[in-house]
Amino acid sequence: MHIGFNKPPFTGNEFIYMQDALAKGKISGDGIYTKRCHEWLEKKLGVKKALLTTSCTHALEMAAILLDIKAGDEIIAPSYTFVSTVNAFVLRGTKIKFVDIRPDTMNIDENLIEAAINEKTKAIVIVHYAGVACNMDKIKALAQKYNIPLIEDAAQAILSTYNGRYLGSFGDIATLSFHETKNLSMGEGGALLINNPHLIERAEIIREKGTDRSKFFRGEVDKYTWVDIGSSYLPSELNAAYLWAQLEQADQIINYRLNVWHKYYNKLQKLNEDYFTMPSIPDNCKHNGHIFYIKLTDMNSRQKLIDYLKAKGIVAIFHYVPLHSSTAGKLYSEFVGNDTYTTKESERILRLPLYYGITGNEIDYIIMQITAFFSTNT
Ligand SMILES: *Cc1c(COP(=O)(O)O)cnc(C)c1O
Repeated sequence: MHIGFNKPPFTGNEFIYMQDALAKGKISGDGIYTKRCHEWLEKKLGVKKALLTTSCTHALEMAAILLDIKAGDEIIAPSYTFVSTVNAFVLRGTKIKFVDIRPDTMNIDENLIEAAINEKTKAIVIVHYAGVACNMDKIKALAQKYNIPLIEDAAQAILSTYNGRYLGSFGDIATLSFHETKNLSMGEGGALLINNPHLIERAEIIREKGTDRSKFFRGEVDKYTWVDIGSSYLPSELNAAYLWAQLEQADQIINYRLNVWHKYYNKLQKLNEDYFTMPSIPDNCKHNGHIFYIKLTDMNSRQKLIDYLKAKGIVAIFHYVPLHSSTAGKLYSEFVGNDTYTTKESERILRLPLYYGITGNEIDYIIMQITAFFSTNT
């Protein structure tokens, strides 16, 4: 048996739509498939504007430009996240203030954010880890109290909800990832979601190399010119056509992942109290089955389990090295308050294989091997 960690999601219609895009003779960006994806995201998620981008990383870079975040400014973010969450801001010369996470969800601790706010703070950037929502009531109230823009890095959180409302619809700006490791994919790609109407027009310009080309195509101006800073952040129609096939079957893909997630959860329940802890989902959150993890007692026991599973043909992995202790993090960031959980919890986490198409037999085999490990190694 060999079970890899991830397989990119594939539904079968991707080829058909990509061929159709070719047949239509337009494979650069913003054609029919891109527009369909925009409309789907806007309607389904309830956001004012959705724009496909070449990655979530680029959507975050657009967010930093859009909010005029500059050298000498600061943003607040969790240190337990992927580099892009903060790199997009470091590119603009911004200093990162990291805040500790909650051990139950691995999300930024909403009660520690306020202490990191000062007059230089230009955004609060949160991450919905594993597709489980941060405490949006508290964080939104805080952003409003201090009048600081809120950015949701919802790279992992498509179709997850908080109090019944989709993630990505809370922040002034949110970003999605459609990288092949995420629930829905276009190979490489992402989206910028905008809920603050004042930011929409400029977002279109930044995405189109700093030109008002989008207005030109809508017939709102008679020629297009250079009007602002910007770059090329729009993906090809081929990628959008691939994504369209995934959006059409989004619920099916996510239900599949949730079934796998619950199977792991239910079957590992018997072992968990003695050897590891499991993810905890707050009552008002519905997640999307993006990640299933367990948390071992420490780094050492985690490594032993990784090695054991590897010998049985199972690839289990961990992430993230906390950004504040990374090489670049030391140059560009500062941890505010105590690192009670970020480092400690990051050393315990282990992610199990979870993808669209993993079979029931494969999951049973993984659970059996984990059970065998704990009955012989303790
Ligand atoms: C995957 C991920 C990103 C980056 O997404 P790309 O589309 O690969 O640029 C950013 N933030 C988080 C939290 C992610 O998980």
